[in-house]
Amino acid sequence: MPDAVGRYFSPNGDRVTLALLDEGKVRDVLGLERAPGVAYEGYPIGKPIGSMTFDYLDASAPEFTRFSLQQIYFPPITNILPEDGVDGAPVWFGVDKKALTARWRSWLTVLAMTEDGNEGVFGTPPPSGNFLRVAASAGLGQLSFQTTPETQRGWDAADGAVKGVVEKDGLARHLLWKGTSNVQSAHPLASCRMGDDPATSALDDRHELRGHPGIFVTDGSAVPTSLCVNPSLTIAALAERASSLLLRRAGEFGLPVRPQAPPPGTTDAMRRRRCLHPA
Ligand SMILES: Cc1cc2nc3c(=O)[nH]c(=O)nc-3n(C[C@H](O)[C@H](O)[C@H](O)COP(=O)(O)OP(=O)(O)OC[C@H]3O[C@@H](n4cnc5c(N)ncnc54)[C@H](O)[C@@H]3O)c2cc1C
Repeated sequence: MPDAVGRYFSPNGDRVTLALLDEGKVRDVLGLERAPGVAYEGYPIGKPIGSMTFDYLDASAPEFTRFSLQQIYFPPITNILPEDGVDGAPVWFGVDKKALTARWRSWLTVLAMTEDGNEGVFGTPPPSGNFLRVAASAGLGQLSFQTTPETQRGWDAADGAVKGVVEKDGLARHLLWKGTSNVQSAHPLASCRMGDDPATSALDDRHELRGHPGIFVTDGSAVPTSLCVNPSLTIAALAERASSLLLRRAGEFGLPVRPQAPPPGTTDAMRRRRCLHPA
């Protein structure tokens, strides 16, 4: 197996923080009002992502300062995660935490997706399977992530931007999720990445595993690095691209396979020339 397999994991720079809204300010400054104890209707509770900004994805900006921001909803069970803003050891319980948790309807949770340093490393899987079970409802994975200064720079930049937006005019208090040094990611990428350098990329530019002709990897692990946006469309597009490369490679091996669908990017004119139905 190439050494690069499992070595350059990216969590897509996922970084969740929280704005605790001041209801009075929201009413006075934004003119938004609601009945006491009712969550804002704009919250995407149980719905797709509500709003997103691409303002910070400036291609000319220095590396590790670019990110997107997205409003996101987490179920109240995750309310234990944000800190009460007091520096020091994590405050998991206590009066302040209880008060913070009780105000979950006034929370605006923000996901930043930043550039990161691909610093995640997968260890050898335990004999028991994917993880070690440490309790009935808790497992210990084999992934370590030692945050690099570059990744931290991206997170700090995103934190600063969110704070600037949500604390403007005293609308909210910005709180970090500091209870754990682990990364929290819903967008695992790059653990079997594509790239030119065999030392850091297990796959060549056709998604083929180096040293293993005919094995193609086409899922999120093939994405080379953090995308700074939600990744599923990119993963799907890469998989579609890989499908035609895979067929071509099969031909090189002498396998009699023929594409049943036009390759990605085929125009209607090209389809007609090949007697395929227009899209
Ligand atoms: C809570 C959450 C919210 C998300 N929201 C978004 C979003 O809004 N937008 C976005 O772009 N992305 C989102 N993502 C990320 C997105 O879902 C993933 O990046 C994407 O689905 C990854 O695609 P994949 O093909 O790599 O893996 P998966 O979609 O995980 O596909 C892997 C498949 O392999 C199957 N499988 C596993 N083991 C085996 C086996 N041994 N044999 C056979 N089959 C097996 C699994 O059942 C699964 O169907 C979200 C992820 C999470 C967890």
